[in-house]
Amino acid sequence: MASLSTYSRIILKIGSSLLVDEHTGRINQDWLQGLALDIAEFAASGTQILIVSSGAIALGRERLVLGTGALSLAQKQACAAAGQALLTQAYEAVLSPHGLVTAQALLTLNDTENRRRWINAKATLATLLSLGAIPIINENDTVATDEIRYGDNDRLAARVAQMVEADLLILLSDIDGLYDKDPSQNDDAHHIPTITELTPEIMAMGGNANSARGTGSGGMATKLQAAKIATEAGCTLVITKGCHERPLSVLDAASAKASWFSAKTNTQAARKQWIAGSLQPKGTLIIDAGAIRALRSGSSLLSAGVRAVEGQFEKGDAVLIHDEHGHEIGRGLTGYSVLEAAHIKGLKSKDIAKVLGYDSGTPFIHRDNMVLST
Ligand code: ADP
Repeated sequence: MASLSTYSRIILKIGSSLLVDEHTGRINQDWLQGLALDIAEFAASGTQILIVSSGAIALGRERLVLGTGALSLAQKQACAAAGQALLTQAYEAVLSPHGLVTAQALLTLNDTENRRRWINAKATLATLLSLGAIPIINENDTVATDEIRYGDNDRLAARVAQMVEADLLILLSDIDGLYDKDPSQNDDAHHIPTITELTPEIMAMGGNANSARGTGSGGMATKLQAAKIATEAGCTLVITKGCHERPLSVLDAASAKASWFSAKTNTQAARKQWIAGSLQPKGTLIIDAGAIRALRSGSSLLSAGVRAVEGQFEKGDAVLIHDEHGHEIGRGLTGYSVLEAAHIKGLKSKDIAKVLGYDSGTPFIHRDNMVLST
């Protein structure tokens, strides 16, 4: 496995049409066994894998003997409840013979859009990965209502990629990539193998997300939205056909037709990684409990919450953010020098100008320049 093994953390998104036989409503066992072999090879070489898988509703429908007719929302959610257990069990059954441990994680939109829940979900997934487990992730369809659901696992997978700082997201699809127009409607559609910039022209090629069929997939539009989220977070995304017997080996041997969307490197994610990892902090800001709450819900750090400052730093330097017991809350780039900081700590933003003689209008640390510890 040459090329894919250059990635260290891979998200694998599997659509229900691959996993569940359309006619029987049961797991495509042979295909899943082949996929498990591929996953085991990658895991053995040290690659961390997370699986985002649809298929619960299709499996539950068969299990609950609901036939092929239209389902009400409550019936779909009941199917999700019945099918999710079968889905996780199917992965466990094929991966455990390879010595791999699986762990089910069901997420809702709230878990990725609310900062505190994001931090919590991120910590859980990071712990699972550090323990060598393979998270099997799906949207929590049993409780999610329309307003709080993704409705497609493409974007959920991209948010998970961003959450765990994955470097590759593989969308195993029924199509081998992006075409300049829908190939199912246009015989002259051209395949696009590499996409380095998600221009408005490229985004328009996916058409309308709402026209898509089924659950767990949103056509090409949601895949392009997923590509935007992932690549901006520094994660490469690839769309390829998943129906091969060993889909990852085929992709790895570069014998699969695919569309590769290059990760952006000069992104906010890369900047944050830089802040988190590679800088020598020049000082420390000690902040109060209210400020910690504000930061964890996604706010910038304001002077009112800063209790004390230590060290020697200039505006723009990296500083540590500590709570009053000396625990690290995060780190960031300060908007003020230590001299200014000593004057304005504890002050409300509106009083800064009175003390400093000018108002730079910047928060102590802007949220974009801050990384919280998890
Ligand atoms: P999944 O395999 O994840 O369930 P979908 O079926 O939701 O994927 O989406 C893939 C489908 O999107 C393709 O089969 C194709 O009909 C449709 N599609 C629409 N526009 C395009 C495009 N520009 N390029 C490729 N496929 C497209």
